[in-house]
Amino acid sequence: MDDLTADVLVIGAGLTGAMIAAHLAERHVRVSVVDAQRVGQAATRRALGLATLSPSQAHIQQTKQGLDHLKRLTSRYGALLQSCGVIQLATSPERRRALQQLSAAVPDVGLEWTTRPDLLPPGFDGGLLMRDSALVNLDLLLVRLLRHPNILVRQHVEVLRLESAGHLTYALCRDLTIMARCVVLATNAYIGLLSPYLADSVRGARGAVWSSQSPTGSVSRPPYAGLPLLFDDWRFALVPGKDGSLHGAAWLWHESDADKDPSEELRRFLRQFGLGKPEQTSRWSTGATTTTDDGAPLVGRLNAEGKVLYALGLGAYGLAWAPIVAERVAALVFTDR
Ligand SMILES: Cc1cc2nc3c(=O)[nH]c(=O)nc-3n(C[C@H](O)[C@H](O)[C@H](O)COP(=O)(O)OP(=O)(O)OC[C@H]3O[C@@H](n4cnc5c(N)ncnc54)[C@H](O)[C@@H]3O)c2cc1C
Repeated sequence: MDDLTADVLVIGAGLTGAMIAAHLAERHVRVSVVDAQRVGQAATRRALGLATLSPSQAHIQQTKQGLDHLKRLTSRYGALLQSCGVIQLATSPERRRALQQLSAAVPDVGLEWTTRPDLLPPGFDGGLLMRDSALVNLDLLLVRLLRHPNILVRQHVEVLRLESAGHLTYALCRDLTIMARCVVLATNAYIGLLSPYLADSVRGARGAVWSSQSPTGSVSRPPYAGLPLLFDDWRFALVPGKDGSLHGAAWLWHESDADKDPSEELRRFLRQFGLGKPEQTSRWSTGATTTTDDGAPLVGRLNAEGKVLYALGLGAYGLAWAPIVAERVAALVFTDR
């Protein structure tokens, strides 16, 4: 069996793990990153790349800071980011009121309640335009974040168990033990496997995703301006791709949705917007994303012995939260160092 020592070991090479590793590496920390699969193949692979603000009064300013940070980061790393507006839409009067109130209550973050018919899809006479949003090339971002000389990435290494002794933590893998002064769990929905304490904090979601084949393929362009659309805080999303294609995703967040078929939900939305009857949808399910009750990520320290930190629950605003989470984790890494 091989042994490896690391100053900081990050378990999980999705958006969260990569962002934390890069943040620490830039501050001269030597970081090992391991992932049970290849880099970015879990929830991060499914993300539509839309970086936008959380439409809740509690989190809008924080996600604005995260988004600004993300913009600086992507421009420094040369990773592709394309500024765009996003329209948040509501299908119930309560949600619509909440969006309207938000546009009035939170100044200076580029919100506008719009009734412009050219921006809105059929059946909607108003929506919240969030000007300060962007489409991000996530694959490229992950590669660039992890390219730092202070970062060592090992793929196909699954951590099976953690054991702490004194100030050290041992990550036990099949053919490898990694000894680290600090371990960060960035394993998203799988976090309960390494920490029973956190298992209850994970709430799974199910959903389905779909992409149009080509700009001119079997799918006609929707009859509106083509900005990304988010319905009911990510119950459904429609996002234009680079080449004029379209990507859609539908989510089932609640236990009361247990008997619903996510692909059928997705098709229902796509039909509503004149996008035909797309057949090729693929499902993802529990374990693809996690969320906390108030929509904010959980960041903290697990134990007194050793140092095991966690970053959990980025949810559907993962891109805007990730830089904030990386900062918070780094602050804990540097405490009592
Ligand atoms: C369909 C869909 C679309 C989305 N679109 C957007 C979007 O447009 N914009 C946005 O901001 N957010 C979006 N999100 C949310 C976003 O994808 C997540 O917030 C983000 O990807 C979470 O990243 P993560 O690194 O925490 O998790 P993950 O990407 O799930 O990474 C966790 C990693 O940990 C590894 N791992 C787990 N256990 C172990 C172990 N024991 N040992 C080693 N490795 C382990 C896994 O292999 C995995 O690679 C979307 C989500 C979905 C499902």
